[in-house]
Amino acid sequence: MTSTTGRVPKQEQERASDEIIEVAPGVLRAQLPIDFTGLGHVNCYLLEDRDGVAIVDPGLPGLSSYKVLRRRLASAGFPIKRVHTVIVTHSHPDHFGGAGRVQHESGAQVVTHQRFRLMWDPSEPPDVDVEDLPEVAKLLGRRFPWDPTPWDGKQMAFSWKRKLALRASRHLPRLMRTPTPTMRLNEAETISLAGRDWVAIHTPGHTEDHLCLFDPTDGVMLSGDHVLPTITPHVGGLSPMADPLATFLESLDKIAAYGDDVSVVLPAHGHPFSSLAARAESIKQHHVDRLDQLRSTAEQIGHPASVTEYSQHLFSARVQGTMADSETYAHLEHLRRLGEMTRQTEPSPYRYVLVD
Ligand SMILES: [Zn+2]
Repeated sequence: MTSTTGRVPKQEQERASDEIIEVAPGVLRAQLPIDFTGLGHVNCYLLEDRDGVAIVDPGLPGLSSYKVLRRRLASAGFPIKRVHTVIVTHSHPDHFGGAGRVQHESGAQVVTHQRFRLMWDPSEPPDVDVEDLPEVAKLLGRRFPWDPTPWDGKQMAFSWKRKLALRASRHLPRLMRTPTPTMRLNEAETISLAGRDWVAIHTPGHTEDHLCLFDPTDGVMLSGDHVLPTITPHVGGLSPMADPLATFLESLDKIAAYGDDVSVVLPAHGHPFSSLAARAESIKQHHVDRLDQLRSTAEQIGHPASVTEYSQHLFSARVQGTMADSETYAHLEHLRRLGEMTRQTEPSPYRYVLVD
């Protein structure tokens, strides 16, 4: 794959391969194409057992991705009816998107973390005192991804077709075939796949409902988007978590602790790798550096500045936009919660300044 800037694409940006490869005992990797936030593919892992196959993260919603999924399954020797389980690592469309259709076609069970919840789901999340949530979180379920962000009003670009589909799916979930989880795993619960038991590890941060699965027998870690090999997972501010960045960093420590027992990490994007603790540490360091960069930027600016203004200092022109702003917002809120910054909410947009 070539890019217009001549940069070598990162592993996660490579085009989906049509090869099926064995990446761990009884675990095959298929890749599905995505054109989403600059990524080129999502890894869909196939876990084979006597009853058929479990698939992890079946790609984007829509028929074209589903057709590729069926082709990949067929080339691995599995008709769709053999899929007995769909595991969804978290509530982003490149991961849950195909799950509803597979569930409909094969009757597969859909396995998620206990907290799995689509962003526009109007029901309240279970076991949460809404009054305790940050103000942004109170908007979740009442907002769509293209609604103005709470910090600067900038909107995400969506075609009218996708808007219509999402709006309709809020009232008629069957329309977009959003998945209905039939098994919600709690921390440390196990599930039997590929002939062995996998342990559920809740790793909130990238999303609040992020799930990793660990097989202690062969040392296989399905890491979803929590730990990726060469890019740092997005940590956004639009979240039901009070401090998504702090939560993400804690979840990195949590997963790093498995390091010695892990022989292979299977991420949702990019290639398998083995150095889990080292990779988690370097992702953590990236955020530590970014926080330092924010502190010095704030000093340099010297007056209350908006999220977008900070974002322009932090990110290159190539990646400016809603996602960069959202990530900057998460970092600014983290510094505010540490007591290092204050936030002015009036007049709009939010402005942040260092505490003297
Ligand atoms: Zn992803």
